Amino acid sequence: MSARQTGIVWAYAAFGLTIMFAWTDKPIAMPMNGLIERELALLCFVTALGRCAFTGLYGASLREALYKRGNELKIAHAKIEELAQIDELTGVLNRRYIMRSLNDEMARAQRSGLPCSVAILDIDFFKRINDGYGHPTGDEVLRSFAAALAVHMRSIDKLGRYGGEEFLVVMPDSSKDQAALAIDRLRQMICNLGWDSISDDLQVTFSAGLAQVGSNDAAEDILSRADAALYKAKDAGRNRVMAS
Ligand code: GH3
Ligand code: MG
Ligand code: MG
Repeated sequence: MSARQTGIVWAYAAFGLTIMFAWTDKPIAMPMNGLIERELALLCFVTALGRCAFTGLYGASLREALYKRGNELKIAHAKIEELAQIDELTGVLNRRYIMRSLNDEMARAQRSGLPCSVAILDIDFFKRINDGYGHPTGDEVLRSFAAALAVHMRSIDKLGRYGGEEFLVVMPDSSKDQAALAIDRLRQMICNLGWDSISDDLQVTFSAGLAQVGSNDAAEDILSRADAALYKAKDAGRNRVMAS
């Protein structure tokens, strides 16, 4: 029974008691000698019961309104939390949250002794895509690129936008060799995707540098090793994966 229904039941009960009180000529344990005294006592009784019923009804609807508002606030809070984690353009984790994930996973790997690898993926010649096809197409490429990676990655891997056309993949429970294989599969998938459905003759590839978390590494250490490997991959001709 809802609080409102309870209030209504109480109001009916109070009303019933009042009628009974008015009809009976018995004293009902109250000092009523004459008619006026009896009428006054009845008036006090009715006023008190009326106040109780009003408080019950009003309190019930107030509680209901507060409950509803509490739920709305919970939903809004969850939405804000989600928005604070997500990169607006691509829908993957934003830089702040992928860095947080990186730190969490590194700490977990260092505690457990399990391997963990990190890869930086950088779209090749992205400036040419912007210049040749326009900035909106560049944005569309970023969105599709991120979505394709997210769909083809393992569910325990974390993907975030690290910079403009750079993405970070954190791969728990993966040695450098396992991670290199997984990222190379993503490289082939991206290379073979039907990009010309976005724009005629459009082709997209990426280069990646990766590194495995060492027992004493801080986040900057592993990122700088992955970045050095990425630099080598670019230098060697792009569309390839290099490990540090
Ligand atoms: P490389 O193969 O060496 O990585 O060359 P690149 O052209 O990909 O790299 P470069 O750093 O020269 O250019 C990156 C470009 O990415 C420049 C910048 O305007 C563009 N960019 C960064 N963020 C966004 C974005 O949100 N949307 C679009 N459309 N372009 C972006
Ligand atoms: Mg770049
Ligand atoms: Mg690039």
